[in-house]
Formats: sequence, structure tokens, C-alpha cells
Amino acid sequence: MSTVVAVDGPSGSGKSSVSREVARRLGLAYLDTGAMYRAATWWCLDQGVPLTDELAVAHAVRDLPLVMGLDPAGPTVVVDGHDVGVAIRTTEISARVSAVATNLDVRAELGRRQRALIDVERTGGWSGGRGVVAEGRDITTVVAPDADVRVLLTADEGARLARRAREVHGTDDADALAATHDQVVRRDADDSMVVQFHVAADGVVTVDSSDLDLAQTVDAVLDVVGQARTPHA
Ligand code: C5P
Repeated sequence: MSTVVAVDGPSGSGKSSVSREVARRLGLAYLDTGAMYRAATWWCLDQGVPLTDELAVAHAVRDLPLVMGLDPAGPTVVVDGHDVGVAIRTTEISARVSAVATNLDVRAELGRRQRALIDVERTGGWSGGRGVVAEGRDITTVVAPDADVRVLLTADEGARLARRAREVHGTDDADALAATHDQVVRRDADDSMVVQFHVAADGVVTVDSSDLDLAQTVDAVLDVVGQARTPHA
């Protein structure tokens, strides 16, 4: 059996960059579950499914032809043969993804697929899996509550807004912060209606990245993994 590391956190906490680098450093697979919700949203829009029609969205997502590539050096998201890695990062998808992610049938379907992907990496058949870092909003609590290591990556709202503004607009001046507000604060408020990712559940270790850069946050998460692997050290 191989190590499963679950990382949850709000937008702008740095969880994608941190999880991917932790996976790379430990030689584990990397599963970005947010990319699956984004791909589901892209698919519904591509198929002309109105996001307000919950039944139609649930139906479309059940048939979603999604293939996730879990190599941390180059993770891929392919829908119906199309590489949608760039298309799912647009502002339009970021603005609309919560409508799909708050659909409980969609959560059940994508959660089932996420558990299957994690299980393959955990057990990997006869040769043993390589293990996986899986990140999202409900991995420590719903998808993989039995993960070997569970981390909630947080940061205060100002730090998260500034980080996302620099990523999207290249600056964290007042205009960029205002433009980013929807993508961070409104989206997390909508997402919070169906999943709790602001407070660590029992047994989940909180890492606060407000005053840490990427390298320091990676080190902090690697420390948590190291402690879990050697509980008596
Ligand atoms: O992490 P990222 O910003 O790419 O996630 C996109 C969206 O996917 C989130 O805003 C949330 O609506 C949804 N999500 C979720 N559960 C997860 C991961 C992401 O609901 N485990």
C-alpha cells in the first residue's frame, strides 16, 4: 500500500501549486479534483446544457468522457479526446463552476470517480501503486477521509486575494484585487454551501500559508507528511 495525501483549502490558499510540488518531490501521482469540476462545467457548456437545469447537468456529468492524467510534471485533463487544460482555467469557467459543484448528484458522481482514481494509485494492482496527493475541497472529509495524511491549507483572505490577483492579472493593485474578488470570495461562499473547507475536521492538520512563500509552504506540508510516516520519531 502506498501513501495517500489529501489536501483541502479555499481559493488562493496555494493548494494546487503546493500539492503538485509535494507530489513531484515524493514521487507520487497528483490528482487535481477542482479540474474535474471545471471539466464538468466545460462539458455542460460545450453540450449546451443550461447550468440551472440540475437534472440535465447531473445527466450530462454521468456521461462525462473525462480522462485525468496524474503526472505531477504535466497533469492533463482530456474530455472526449480534447485537451481542455487551458480552456477550463478561463474566467468564465471560474465564475460558473460553483453552479455545477453545488449539484449533489454531480458531487456523488465525481466523488465516485475520484475515489476510484485514488484507489488505483493506492493499491496499483500487483505491483503496488505509487501513492497520490489529491487536492480539492472535500478530499480530507468526504472523498478520502481515510487518507494517510490529511492537510487543510489555509491563508487569510487578504493573502488569498493578493495571490490570485497576481496569478490572473500579474499585479495585486486595487483594480486587480477588485476584479479577483468574485473568483475568490464569492466562489468560496457558494462552494461553502455544500462543503466545509475553512475549518479542519478531526485529525486534519492545518497549515496556514498567509506568511509563507511557495517553497516554505511545500516544506511545511512535507513536514506533516514526514511526521505521519514516522509517528514515533
Ligand atoms: O481548485 P479549483 O479552484 O480549481 O476548484 C474549482 C471549483 O471546483 C471550486 O470552486 C469548487 O466549486 C469545485 N470543487 C469542489 N470540490 C472539490 C474540488 C473543487 O466542489 N473537491
